[in-house]
Amino acid sequence: MTQRIYNFCSGPAALPTEVLEQARAELLDWRGLGMSVMEISHRSDEFTALIRQAETDLRRLLDVPDHYRVLFVQGGASTQFAAIPLNLLGLGGQADYVDTGIWSRKAIEEASRYLKVNVAASAKSNGYSQVPAQSEWQLDPASAYVHVTPNETIGGLEYLWTPDIGTKPLVADMSSTLLSRPLDVSRFGLIYAGAQKNIGPSGLTVLIVRDDLLGHASPQLPTMLNYQVAADNGSMYNTPPTFSIYLAGLVFQWLERQGGLPAIAEINRRKADKLYQYIDASPFYSNPIHPDSRSWMNIPFRLRDESLDKAFLAGAEAAGLANLQGHRSVGGMRASIYNAMPEAAIDRLIEYMDDFSRKAG
Ligand code: PMP
Repeated sequence: MTQRIYNFCSGPAALPTEVLEQARAELLDWRGLGMSVMEISHRSDEFTALIRQAETDLRRLLDVPDHYRVLFVQGGASTQFAAIPLNLLGLGGQADYVDTGIWSRKAIEEASRYLKVNVAASAKSNGYSQVPAQSEWQLDPASAYVHVTPNETIGGLEYLWTPDIGTKPLVADMSSTLLSRPLDVSRFGLIYAGAQKNIGPSGLTVLIVRDDLLGHASPQLPTMLNYQVAADNGSMYNTPPTFSIYLAGLVFQWLERQGGLPAIAEINRRKADKLYQYIDASPFYSNPIHPDSRSWMNIPFRLRDESLDKAFLAGAEAAGLANLQGHRSVGGMRASIYNAMPEAAIDRLIEYMDDFSRKAG
């Protein structure tokens, strides 16, 4: 077998080896058709069954209530930054957004092109090291919905709680946290996520939308971005990203085999705790995030002396620990440890970090 390294990339991220092996085994001849899944019509009975199965499996994993639609769309989470205000414009021309980092700010910037954005709270005042407590939020009664980014992939800031905003729809960019643990979908109006972290390859975006939020779109909304159209057409108004949906379906089945979200959450919590504890105890490494806001999925850390960063990264690479470099906008290091990252990888990383810090003195 080829040697697989531990890939800490933030996304596209590592996929479960078992899933990739299954895809490899089925690549040339999927289900005895003599063709790959990439080469068949999306309108075929086989693909229609596949996409419906993927939806059923995702619904079961997340226990999605019946009055929510699961949609598979394209354009990444970034397209949703515009699609959300445009789909909900009929509910009102203003929305509340909470700013917890780079991805919230991108969502705010894009939404501001279509409606009035009230920034209800911002982590700017604490240097983006802590999610603002809900008691500090200045929600505007005139806003049609409230948008949050439950996990900031770059900053490593995560809500370890679900906001309670009453009857207004809570809209959440869950790109880097969906499927990392059980979720009470009924607390949200709309959940969206680019697939390339915990779901599958890029090219697919998953939406979970409450029924009553369909049908409020701006008349200017492009058909391809209209949730109602996607829902009415079973996510196949046009040709969907068939291979990404196939692979996501394999990931959903893999998750089920791991024991579903309660089991994966337990592993994820253990992985994150272990790494944070090591960093906190070390005089050589540090993590800037307040303990009540620390991401389970993306763990940024710094070396005591940043002139050692290059050597740290080169040594990590040589030890089979890839893509630990922090985002270009923040520097330092970041370990993205999504579902597919085995616990053994965290042990290896800590071992390497310890070894490096000792040699560096
Ligand atoms: N939101 C979050 C939280 C993200 O992490 C990302 C991508 N890293 C995006 C949005 C943008 O996603 P995409 O590249 O799929 O447009």
